[in-house]
Amino acid sequence: MTLEELNAEAKLCARCRLREGATQVVPGEGSAHAEIMFIGEGPGAVEDKTGRPFVGPAGKFLDELLKSIGLVRGDIFITNMVKCRPPENRDPRDDEMEICTSSWLEPQIKLINPKVFVPLGRHALHKFLPGAVISKEHGELYERGGLVYFVMYHPAVALYNGSYRKVLLDDFKTLREFLDGAVEPETLNDAVSDIIAEKRKPGGKGPDEPKRDGPSGGDSGQVGMSF
Ligand code: SF4
Repeated sequence: MTLEELNAEAKLCARCRLREGATQVVPGEGSAHAEIMFIGEGPGAVEDKTGRPFVGPAGKFLDELLKSIGLVRGDIFITNMVKCRPPENRDPRDDEMEICTSSWLEPQIKLINPKVFVPLGRHALHKFLPGAVISKEHGELYERGGLVYFVMYHPAVALYNGSYRKVLLDDFKTLREFLDGAVEPETLNDAVSDIIAEKRKPGGKGPDEPKRDGPSGGDSGQVGMSF
């Protein structure tokens, strides 16, 4: 099965209750040969309406971030952990998450086989790197279970607080360096790694992340999923 065929099948999915309240399934989009796979948490209002991921203001900033390292949207693949918008912007439930990721996200990952995963949002991060804290680990690359992850703030954070634009742009340089083979990820052996724990220093808390339908314009954003 090709990625295109998988996504076409996903569009017809009604395997969980989330489909009832959603306008349409938003499977994700981008290159089947992407080196980078961005994984948000669930479609927001704009995604639900358009059927496309990350098309609001935060998505535009993501485009700017990609451009800063010589990439365009067509070079990457971007999707969400749940493909249908939860009603009234509520958090997806565990059973919805499990059904959707096993049905669609995991097959997408197998077909694309990206070089690096970029979870967007705290809860997406915790699926892949339990125990990681975005405000402490942003800009870092980790290898866990044979997969590489890049930790970054959700682009919508920069819409709430302009000072985070520079943080994101600076962090993105590390992603470019990794793609160029100039930096290596640190290997994690445990869910809550000693490496992550050692890196943490006392300091200020990072910004709260936006809800999906916040002023970010509905780009896939923070939802309260837990794994
Ligand atoms: S959220 Fe996922 S599993 Fe549920 S109906 Fe939509 S595509 Fe299917």
